[in-house]
Amino acid sequence: MAQSIPESVRALLRPSAASLEPYDPAFTPSRINLSANENTYGLPKDVHRKLVDALASVPTNRYPDPMSGELREAIAAWHGVAPEQVCVGNGGDELLFNLFLAFGGSGHVMVNVPPTFSVYRLYAELVETQVKDVPRDPETFEVDMGALLEAARTANLVVVTSPNNPTGNLLSVEDAARLCEACPGVVLMDEAYMEFASAEDTAEPLLARYDNLVVLHTFSKAFCLAGCRVGYVLSSPGVIGALAAVRQPYSVSVLDQTAAQVLAQERDALASTIATIRSERERLSSGLAALDGVTVWPSAANFLLVRLPDAHQVRCTLRDEYSILVRDFSQAPGLRDCLRITVGTPEENDAVIAAVSQILERSRA
Ligand SMILES: *Cc1c(COP(=O)(O)O)cnc(C)c1O
Repeated sequence: MAQSIPESVRALLRPSAASLEPYDPAFTPSRINLSANENTYGLPKDVHRKLVDALASVPTNRYPDPMSGELREAIAAWHGVAPEQVCVGNGGDELLFNLFLAFGGSGHVMVNVPPTFSVYRLYAELVETQVKDVPRDPETFEVDMGALLEAARTANLVVVTSPNNPTGNLLSVEDAARLCEACPGVVLMDEAYMEFASAEDTAEPLLARYDNLVVLHTFSKAFCLAGCRVGYVLSSPGVIGALAAVRQPYSVSVLDQTAAQVLAQERDALASTIATIRSERERLSSGLAALDGVTVWPSAANFLLVRLPDAHQVRCTLRDEYSILVRDFSQAPGLRDCLRITVGTPEENDAVIAAVSQILERSRA
């Protein structure tokens, strides 16, 4: 349960924080956790060994390199950009916050494309940014490009998630280019799940053409480091300079920098797990879609958005009777009766399909 804030304390808060509640991930220890889009396969053994060996020799008595120099160079070489085009953060979340801190604020406008990651609106409002929503199609969740381009023309910041969380669909690279052209401010393409899509789906090639483009990545999803907290953005040196100016200098610890360096170096060793997750995604999707009354949207990420009768109850039964944790979006605007299910191992996916099938059958009996 989230901790409560007494009225006496609320009265002291900055107005933009006065109605906030502490973040509650709705976590319950479970046999199978498919609620947070982590890589449930864990690190390959040899990569884990290299990680542990690297961490063992890290001195912890000195402050870390503020800009994560060595990691920054490794990421730059990996993505074919200059080190000055990379900023590393304490998870992608910190970089999102820095982006709103730098480019949002009172009098500034952020264009948001819901349903999407709730953090954008939260951070935008916390730093007093005006949020303009351009809702996705209620059935397909496709972006309304006409409306988005129109809104982008007067925005300081546009945020599009591709693949989108929780709907799983992509924004095309051509549409990302049109956004960068239309927007006088910064365009963030949040590509936290891009490793699960195809190589031609990333907006990264546009970095060579548009100085206002920011592409966000994380080590938390495909690369098994959710517990370490390392993310990075790629952009023009100017935008990276602005992020470097507002960020907390020592937010990425030496341990996290070292862990991410090992993963950057060993990234090819994750390719087979990522390929398995992609094929399991299709298997889980057809397994669930074959059940009566279940709708599954196509996904380019490591999760599926699923609509089914009485979703909230199904989610509770999965948790309480099967010890399977999935994410409940059934009360979220535009996501009536929707759950988000992370693609797990073949055994985990089989267990979810069997459990949902049994729950739906029982409810019909
Ligand atoms: C998970 C996620 C992130 C970043 O997560 P971190 O663990 O903070 O790196 C960013 N954007 C989206 C849409 C995500 O789902």
